[in-house]
Amino acid sequence: MIENDLLQGAVNDGVIQIAGLRSLLMSSGSGIGFGVKTLDGSYRVANPVLERLLHQKPGQVLGKSESELLPSAVLATLGPCDQQLLEGAAGTSEEVDLAVDAQPVRYLWLKLPVFDPGGKLQAIASLVYPYVAEQAPTAVQQTLDHLQQTNQQLQQTLVELEQVASTDKLTGIWNRRRLEDCVRREMERFQRYKHPLSLLVIDVDFFKTINDRYGHGTGDRVLQLLSTQLQDGLRGADSLARWGGEEFVILCPDTNKATATTLAERLRAQVANASFPEIGRLTISIAVAECEADESWAEWFQRADEALYRAKAEGRNRVHLAPGTGGHLAAEDGRVANFVHLVWRSAYECGNEDIDRGHRQLFSDANDLLAAILSEHGAESVNATVDKLLTDIRAHFAEEESVFVAAGFPDAAAHIAMHQQLIARALSMGDDYRAGKQSLGDVFQFLAHEVIAKHLLGADRKFFDHLQRKVSPAG
Ligand code: GH3
Ligand code: MG
Ligand code: MG
Repeated sequence: MIENDLLQGAVNDGVIQIAGLRSLLMSSGSGIGFGVKTLDGSYRVANPVLERLLHQKPGQVLGKSESELLPSAVLATLGPCDQQLLEGAAGTSEEVDLAVDAQPVRYLWLKLPVFDPGGKLQAIASLVYPYVAEQAPTAVQQTLDHLQQTNQQLQQTLVELEQVASTDKLTGIWNRRRLEDCVRREMERFQRYKHPLSLLVIDVDFFKTINDRYGHGTGDRVLQLLSTQLQDGLRGADSLARWGGEEFVILCPDTNKATATTLAERLRAQVANASFPEIGRLTISIAVAECEADESWAEWFQRADEALYRAKAEGRNRVHLAPGTGGHLAAEDGRVANFVHLVWRSAYECGNEDIDRGHRQLFSDANDLLAAILSEHGAESVNATVDKLLTDIRAHFAEEESVFVAAGFPDAAAHIAMHQQLIARALSMGDDYRAGKQSLGDVFQFLAHEVIAKHLLGADRKFFDHLQRKVSPAG
């Protein structure tokens, strides 16, 4: 074909170069149908002429493949072209009959490769124009004149299209498709290098109620603010995406479950403590799952999804770590999961600022201890964390005693004796642990369950009632 000779000439002079793209794209005046499809076969660009030739309404070519757009005879003619381009052809051109006003009209369908800056085939551009035998060389020459110096503009357009295709419209963060690309790459790295890889799945609690109460527009703005907050709370290598609706996913490369749990807990607390304009408070539930060897993406995500379900079932505003698939991990993870559930909740507050601050501090110390244990920090870091917890317990008990004594709490003496007993046991456990007579698991169990869960959330309630009666103007 003469056209191919011309194309070959253009290639020999340099690489196929396309410019004037926008003018071609925008105008239907040229009479040339113009489109670009990516290598998955779907059209990303189509000008009005091409839309008309393919009998599609404006915008309807986008996302479709030629097999959805073309009659089978045309498809059969054009079929081999893509393969030729993939194999390195400089361009292809075929005569095809397209229906215009129900009559077949002969067109020339030119396909050109579009390369990325590295010279790799990135997309295929099509130019379709009426075939007039004697004018063909001139028409092609004109087209090639349009296709001059560089294909930069087209590449820029493709980069922009890629951006649009991988970004969530509402929040501007990555969408599910983009995240899944990243997951694929990170899972390959994980298989090869065995670096840990973790996933956080986040779901807004009672979001439907927010929509119902404040309207969908407010709901949208809340999702935008939330995504900004989550993004701000992330480390550089983590990737945040909107998974859909009010669900977000964070992929954490080089991160084990302990660190991921700490991150999740930080994000959860950050959101729970923030005030959202229009609605006030908002909470999220988070599932954490570390990828396991030989696990597929679907299986990994499924584990995370189940953990999310648990976080919801156990009361929301919490982090739940997905148990590992291996039986030996289950016991350890169970303990982790139990503990991670000891997140601070407003229902635990007694209303006295000092006491509430002290209680919150102990929760956070215990979280630190757990993170230190799980992330297998050195003994020094664990010891320091145990010491801090013991010191804070003593300081908090002293402060609490002065508050309830001043408030005339009738059971003050008994409560003080309880504190002394707990402190004595905590100190001797600390000593035993340092002497190697007590496992860290026991120390942790004691601090988390005896001191925090049973005492702070149990025994302390008695004087909470007393304090509330004292401060309440009605009481
Ligand atoms: P749960 O704590 O169990 O997660 O309760 P929920 O109400 O958040 O859960 P559910 O899945 O029933 O509701 C999610 C709601 O999120 C329903 C849907 O209307 C709303 N939603 C999903 N996408 C959007 C969005 O883009 N904007 C707004 N405003 N709402 C959305
Ligand atoms: Mg949901
Ligand atoms: Mg929800």
